[in-house]
Amino acid sequence: MFCQIDHVIAQRSHPIIKTFEQTGNLSGRTVTIETPNQIASCHCSIIPSSLINQIERIRQDQHAEIVPIHITHDAERYERFRQQRNQPGSTIRSLVELERMGLSTTRKPTARPRPIMNVYSAQNQELTDEQLPGIFMLSNKAKQIPDQKLPPDQTAEVTLTNTNYAYTCFWQSFGQYGITGNGEPYISTIHYGQDFENAFFNGWQFIYGDGSDLFESFAEFLSVVSHELWHGVTGSRLNYFNEAGALNEHLSDVFASIAIQFTNQQTVDKGSWLIAKGIFKGYPNDALRSMKEPGKAYDIQLGETVIKDEQPDHYQQRYEGSEDNGGVHINSGIPNKAFYLFATSVGGNVWEKPGLIWYHTLKNGLLKKNATMQQFAEATIQITHQLYSTDLELQNHLLRAWREVGVLI
Ligand SMILES: [Zn+2]
Repeated sequence: MFCQIDHVIAQRSHPIIKTFEQTGNLSGRTVTIETPNQIASCHCSIIPSSLINQIERIRQDQHAEIVPIHITHDAERYERFRQQRNQPGSTIRSLVELERMGLSTTRKPTARPRPIMNVYSAQNQELTDEQLPGIFMLSNKAKQIPDQKLPPDQTAEVTLTNTNYAYTCFWQSFGQYGITGNGEPYISTIHYGQDFENAFFNGWQFIYGDGSDLFESFAEFLSVVSHELWHGVTGSRLNYFNEAGALNEHLSDVFASIAIQFTNQQTVDKGSWLIAKGIFKGYPNDALRSMKEPGKAYDIQLGETVIKDEQPDHYQQRYEGSEDNGGVHINSGIPNKAFYLFATSVGGNVWEKPGLIWYHTLKNGLLKKNATMQQFAEATIQITHQLYSTDLELQNHLLRAWREVGVLI
């Protein structure tokens, strides 16, 4: 039976993994990695704090073993990143400029060296920013060696594989070369903390927990890795609060779905449209989010309590409270559903027209950092007009999708 690649741990015979094995000579010398400048001010995670808070409350209520949840830590980190925010000049480019740069809907990426992809271990410590990335484990570049001998580690191999799958999709489909487009190294730290129940991009690198009694190991999911990698691409273009934050989350889910379907070479009708399917231990068919059916991704028994996906799929049902940075992981269900409706009405490969429209909307759509869903929807329409001016059917599909979720009237 064909097994969809998301949870990659069982996919070790794929040719891309062989590439790593062939180039995996880890003897030689210690390597120094230049840390890229901070790309975004967000502390962009895959699991919402609202869900983590809910799990924590249930565990406490039921006198279950209390796992450290890092809420305070996360809040402090977030505030620190926010204060450190470096706002580069506008990176928005016009489509004319884009064509001049060779980035268009028809461009085939020219050969370029694959960016460095290094995996480090935090050795189950919560490393500070100064201590990160941790101890070197594995690289896609043969010349690099570990700082100290660590035993072979399947999570490290899978992290590298997933990073490579995601990069390959983003490069071949959109010409996205590295995190910001300049071939920056992909630095990943695994085994972060004890029973750490999240994965996040801290503004310059990717950090993954091993999971817990409830969650599987995060880096093993292609959708988690590609979701985090895309937070690097979105960078500071969208704030991580309220509707702009929900759009930021939405974009990471969109490109995570694209990475899965591209890696599996699936058409939109064959895609699962699930993010992190199987991440809840003992629930192989549940996922963190469903782009097809927001609100139906998971239904988990935790002790005597059931926790459920609470994503809305219509703008009128949007969450307006303050949890989860104003519902960034909650309200992302609304544009997620719109993208699903659009892509499946267009048909074919999601990384072609639908993916390109969303890509150019982010990179060139004149989005404000605090864009609302309506402004984002209007930007997708504007980009579609520019890229596919004669394709009225495509434009109608897009309009209908945004109307169906109540973002456009
Ligand atoms: Zn995220």
